[in-house]
Amino acid sequence: MQTVMDIQKAVKGLLGGIASPQEELPEHLETWEDHLAAYQQANEVSDAATWYKVDILYSLVEKFGRTSLAEFAKQVHERPTTFVSYMRAAKAFPKPTRVPELSFEAHLQASYADSYKDQKFLTDNRFQVLEQAASEGMSGQRVRNEITKQRAEAQKEELKATDPVKCKRCDSSEPEVYKFIFYSPEVKNAVEVWLHRDCFEEFINTIDKDHVSND
Ligand SMILES: [Zn+2]
Repeated sequence: MQTVMDIQKAVKGLLGGIASPQEELPEHLETWEDHLAAYQQANEVSDAATWYKVDILYSLVEKFGRTSLAEFAKQVHERPTTFVSYMRAAKAFPKPTRVPELSFEAHLQASYADSYKDQKFLTDNRFQVLEQAASEGMSGQRVRNEITKQRAEAQKEELKATDPVKCKRCDSSEPEVYKFIFYSPEVKNAVEVWLHRDCFEEFINTIDKDHVSND
């Protein structure tokens, strides 16, 4: 049976060996590229560690229920809101869907491309966003900006799709058009007609004329 020590050793191995604040830097750190590469590697290690924590929590919730998160947060000195993000990321991107070249933050931000309710995602836009992020090498912040932009565009399209109500007499939607209800006793039917206040009277006259001419 694995002891806690065994698990700690395994985790240290998995996360690239950087597991102490006294960790020595590699010896031949000379050029700009060396520093860049070392830093990027450290970023990969910390992202891997974050995903590892995400998966630990997912396992915890499966075994002890969602209500266990609050007490667990207290014991590991994490904010409950951090755990909320972690659980969202776990649900959004199961292991096979995660892109190693992208940061944890980029994944988390991509999850905001979809609505999330009662621990379920209602849509699946996030995978496409992640694909785009991977092909363009986006940071978390850029993914966030991209989603904001896409949302604004979608909203604009939606507004375009709903035609403004037009006045029945002059065919214009400006200024405000009002709904009038006409009732015909003969056909026992109410008819809704949208008109400008100023167009109302003209419209009534037209009906009268039509009525007279039809007689
Ligand atoms: Zn009008």
